[in-house]
Amino acid sequence: MTHSTDPTASTPARSQQLFERAQRVIPGGVNSPVRAFRAVGGTPRFIARAQGAHLWDADGQRYIDYIGSWGPMILGHGHPAALEAVQKAALEGFSFGAPTEREVELAEEILRHVPSMEMVRLVSSGTEAGMSAIRLARGATGRSVIVKFNGCYHGHADSLLVKAGSGLATFGHATSAGVPPEVVQHTLVLEYNDVAQLDEAFALHGADIACVIMEPIAGNMNFVRASVPFMQRARELCTQHGALLILDEVMTGFRVALGGAQSLYAQQIPGFAPDLTVLGKVIGGGMPLAAFGGPRAVMEQLAPLGPVYQAGTLSGNPVATACGLATLREISRPGFYDRLAARTRAWMQGLEDAARAEGVPLVTDCEGGMFGFFLLPELPQNYPQVLATDGPRFNRLFHGLLARGVYIAPALYEAGFVSSAHTEDDIAQSVAAAREVFRELS
Ligand code: PLP
Repeated sequence: MTHSTDPTASTPARSQQLFERAQRVIPGGVNSPVRAFRAVGGTPRFIARAQGAHLWDADGQRYIDYIGSWGPMILGHGHPAALEAVQKAALEGFSFGAPTEREVELAEEILRHVPSMEMVRLVSSGTEAGMSAIRLARGATGRSVIVKFNGCYHGHADSLLVKAGSGLATFGHATSAGVPPEVVQHTLVLEYNDVAQLDEAFALHGADIACVIMEPIAGNMNFVRASVPFMQRARELCTQHGALLILDEVMTGFRVALGGAQSLYAQQIPGFAPDLTVLGKVIGGGMPLAAFGGPRAVMEQLAPLGPVYQAGTLSGNPVATACGLATLREISRPGFYDRLAARTRAWMQGLEDAARAEGVPLVTDCEGGMFGFFLLPELPQNYPQVLATDGPRFNRLFHGLLARGVYIAPALYEAGFVSSAHTEDDIAQSVAAAREVFRELS
């Protein structure tokens, strides 16, 4: 295989065959769009197996994995504790459609680490969790308007697939066909980290706003932190106007710290807590599992106690909860996040040093086991700034790394993830690969 940055230079035969076959029966050949390599071009790698920090594709090529199934695999692949828990649970039964002790244990474990949540409900995907949290916020407040931020992704529920309107604090337009305008007429899309827009939105619509939903560290625009003044103002405005602040920690929860990103903001904003929290990814350890939760008084608005309906055939699935529980127990061991964060920092520091040595502008940021890097002179604060990245250059970087066995997200607006299975050697190999690619790019 050549080490080119050209996506067509090395087309792996088996992945290519599988991709052609897949495209005949699955739209675009994939079951989730970003897997298709549309942004970067070339053939997506069909993965045959994984172990620790490594993936092997259908052609037998090994990759150091910085996607981690888009976040869940914080222990790496095939961790013995998770594997044993899943095997044991599977022997006991796949799904009962009735309550189990394990669901209670997982709920207790989540609440133990996220003190803003007094109760939690388990579901199967982040989309479901975000959609349900919005319905709960609307049901609990009796209001319709939701505020979201440009570049934040909260799953593919209709009311959340919205792009910003043309003026400040105006209602947006659907970003997907199939979403009627009436469904998004209550969704207000604002610029991330823009305190003035937030003030204006509440001044104009405060009495109608049910909730503000945001990613505290926006991993769907690579890695952009909500500034402390922005988070603080969102909290104040929600409290003043009787709206709920929803933190979507599907990506950041149990990933950037044991208590999620909210625990980091609570260190800087006295008394800070969201009203509702949305979780996913890490809490299932690679199995379909997500959750949303908050204060008892709000959560008790849910059926069967209250008027807000929400349900799921596979919610709290016994095999998924076993995997989630085993994962949470491993990551709550003392020192876990210190070691994870040190490894992630080493990778980002290595990338920065390699880029500087080759004269390529690059900035990085990271927290716990989540990272972002930008081919920009400084860290962006919002989505338009993220999109100022030189796309073709990023695509060459992606393919250069892939050809050298380093697998990062195939789009410049996605965060990356390090697991506890990544070794110093993995980081050193990745940095060496990056330096070679930067040399080609400079
Ligand atoms: N919220 C955030 C912040 C996410 O990153 C994602 C998925 O990447 C979701 C929600 C949706 O989760 P899922 O893909 O499990 O539906």
